[in-house]
Amino acid sequence: MTSIVATGEVFHGRVKELHVAPEGLVLTSGGRVVNGDIESNYADYTEIDTATSGGDKASWLRITFNDNRPAWQVSGMQIQQAEWAEQMVNEAALAAQQRDDPIYRQKVALDTLGQHLSAFGDPAAPQVAPFIDLLLVQAILHGASDVHIDPIANQLLVRYRIDGALTDICELPISMRERLIGRLKVVGGMITYRSDVPQEGRSTAAIDDRDIDARISVLPTIHGEKATIRLFDPTRAVMPLAELGMDDEALQLFTDVILRPQGTVLLTGPAGAGKTTTLYSALAHIHGQRRSLSAITTIEDPVEHDLGIVTQTETDERNGLTFAAGLRTILRQDPEVIMIGEIRDAETGGIAIQAGLTGHLILSTVHARSAAGVFARLIDIGVEPFLVASSVTAVVAQRLVRKICPACAGPVQFDPALLESAGVKAEDAAGWSLKAGGGCSACGQSGYSGRTGVFQVLAVDAPLRALVMQGLPAAELQQELGRLGASSLREAALAKVKAGVTTIDEVLRVLGSVDADA
Ligand SMILES: [Zn+2]
Repeated sequence: MTSIVATGEVFHGRVKELHVAPEGLVLTSGGRVVNGDIESNYADYTEIDTATSGGDKASWLRITFNDNRPAWQVSGMQIQQAEWAEQMVNEAALAAQQRDDPIYRQKVALDTLGQHLSAFGDPAAPQVAPFIDLLLVQAILHGASDVHIDPIANQLLVRYRIDGALTDICELPISMRERLIGRLKVVGGMITYRSDVPQEGRSTAAIDDRDIDARISVLPTIHGEKATIRLFDPTRAVMPLAELGMDDEALQLFTDVILRPQGTVLLTGPAGAGKTTTLYSALAHIHGQRRSLSAITTIEDPVEHDLGIVTQTETDERNGLTFAAGLRTILRQDPEVIMIGEIRDAETGGIAIQAGLTGHLILSTVHARSAAGVFARLIDIGVEPFLVASSVTAVVAQRLVRKICPACAGPVQFDPALLESAGVKAEDAAGWSLKAGGGCSACGQSGYSGRTGVFQVLAVDAPLRALVMQGLPAAELQQELGRLGASSLREAALAKVKAGVTTIDEVLRVLGSVDADA
């Protein structure tokens, strides 16, 4: 593993310059490696013994090594520069030595991790760089989607979001806040001396040959700044369609509509419901089937992962690159397949629906409470019902539920009232082998491990098209759909309970009680 923290800084002496790079140090003179000898002018952080600085007006920085090579000395630096360089080099050297510890490479149980991280709260352990490395490495190994560092009263609460649920990792003294947040600002390329404004930055964590994109944001709160780090793991960005969690029928319908030459396929679900993963998987599937026969373009806010196989554009509202503006330009370039991050205004909706009728396959998301609500929402924002009915080929509602941890799964009895509120009649559930996880070290005592999608795929056929033409409100359309025998999101979720994949509690957490469907 290479360093999580991408440091990059050049310190200028009178004659020589010291480059503090992510992997190690390079000593140059006038931009050239001293004496042209690369061997003796490059040092890995693990080879450094210590850095010291001294002098007053014109200071020096001295670096000694733990092998027999001669020390490096850079003279004629400004004092603050020399001190800053000394601190950076020593931090990087210590971090490199600490990173030899397997805990920086192998997943450890969350309670063990919490103990290791808490040790950094000791005032005698002033290093924050290795703390952040360890925090991020283990977050990635645990599959966390984000890391939260929140000041609460006189503590700093550190949490991971794993499988959509926040888990406490450790508490640290509030005195660490400034250094920790300061370090994150450096890593994320933010303005270090501002603590009164929200800021966003970006960095990359490299682990096991994967580059994980880390989006760091800091926000002032009444107890000082809090930080959130969102992690985008490329190996999780694109999954084969068959692994998303669709049942056979839904998978068949979805695969069919995304391989048609034209039409509009719309996804709906709350934030964090896995819509982007489904869209990315669909694009990868289309690319895999058609290869260079299709030009695929996206416009997203933001681009969550560089797919490497399609043209991806990011919206930039401040400079006029809105979804609608981007989409108009994309259409002039005439790609066959267009993915639009979200349809939220009439203009984008109108262009997208029209494009889906004129030889393009459009994939997008619409904010609505249910699949039926998507039609109503489009009509609401001003798209003609007959256009919606003719262009939209399928609507997909999606949620994510946590999967029962296989290591501690066991049979469980559920309260009939609970079953009923989730939409299951007790007599129907009699034959189900209901399971739940009791909690173990493999799942951090949560009883869950990993997540899977729950899908309602509504392919638009003649009877549904006729209903959409009438421009019915969402609730009425939902009832009509029930009459037509369309399966619901709740049925898909309960099928996963019946199959022992997830629990009734999880269905209630994600979909609410059955009364919420009305
Ligand atoms: Zn478990």
